[in-house]
Amino acid sequence: MKEKLEQMRVTARDAMEAAGTEDLLQDVRVRFLGKKGDLTAIMKGMGRLTSEERPVVGALANTVKSELEGLFEARLKTVREAEIGKRLEQERIDVTLPGRRLSQGTKHPITLVTEEIVEIFSSLGFGVAEGPEVEKDFYNFEALNLPKDHPARDMQDTFYISEDVVLRTHTSPVQIRTMLRQAPPVRVIAPGTVYRRDSDLTHSPMFHQVEGFLVDRNVTFGDLKGILTTFIAQFFGKNIGVRFRPSFFPFTEPSAEVDMQCVICGGDGCRVCKNSGWLEILGSGMIDPEVFKAVDYDPEAYSGFAFGMGLERIAMLKYGVNDLRLFFENDLRFLKQF
Ligand SMILES: [Zn+2]
Repeated sequence: MKEKLEQMRVTARDAMEAAGTEDLLQDVRVRFLGKKGDLTAIMKGMGRLTSEERPVVGALANTVKSELEGLFEARLKTVREAEIGKRLEQERIDVTLPGRRLSQGTKHPITLVTEEIVEIFSSLGFGVAEGPEVEKDFYNFEALNLPKDHPARDMQDTFYISEDVVLRTHTSPVQIRTMLRQAPPVRVIAPGTVYRRDSDLTHSPMFHQVEGFLVDRNVTFGDLKGILTTFIAQFFGKNIGVRFRPSFFPFTEPSAEVDMQCVICGGDGCRVCKNSGWLEILGSGMIDPEVFKAVDYDPEAYSGFAFGMGLERIAMLKYGVNDLRLFFENDLRFLKQF
């Protein structure tokens, strides 16, 4: 029995040394020191010993037991520390590593152009107004001197929602809404999204316009010319030639298209200006008395002018972009350049 105990002592010691984790170590403890373990099994045979042998074997068994228990505790501590160390190593955070940057968005070129235009007109005393994109026929057409049978309605291939409701085809209805709300004098600029049934290389069914208008006593075409020339000089740079060409719009009379000297070729003629040296950039005119009647302004007492421009076109000229579709594709490689 003594040999059995000695043998178990060696086997158990080796097993504890070999157990590398807390779980394995606990298994070893149960196997040798547990209630159904090897040591208990050996002790059960003590009844067969002589009265001389019994105390000797009993003492040895106690020694082995306490020795193994001591060893178990010591190994447990070591194994736990090793496991903590391992976990700390795995979960270590290297504070010297560079952080992950969140990529920051940039403003869309249409937004940039809109903001700059609004800023220039603000400095000229214009306020900003907005209106709904789903608009009543009255504000989009009727009040702007475009009655139901007017041929110019065809020019603006319209998205109809119902017979009386449309997606606005221009920002001009904001003019009507503002004038109905407010007595003159008014100076307002109205940027926004507009819609037309038109889609090809140079047209998109959704695009952006900015509308501007000014109403007061004794406003003349000279004021219109002065404001728009000032705007073009501030936006595109001084010394750029500007010319006014007679045109027609149902809601202005007289009307003028405004051209500026080609910013690409400086007026010498190129593909963009179709070799004319001029670029058409906006439409304008003196507000038609019929429009004043629709909003209850007295055309005898007041006069005013209005103008409108396509923001995509302005952005194309400003940044030298040659394809309208780039503005709507949301390609980051394009957008990041602004
Ligand atoms: Zn040119």
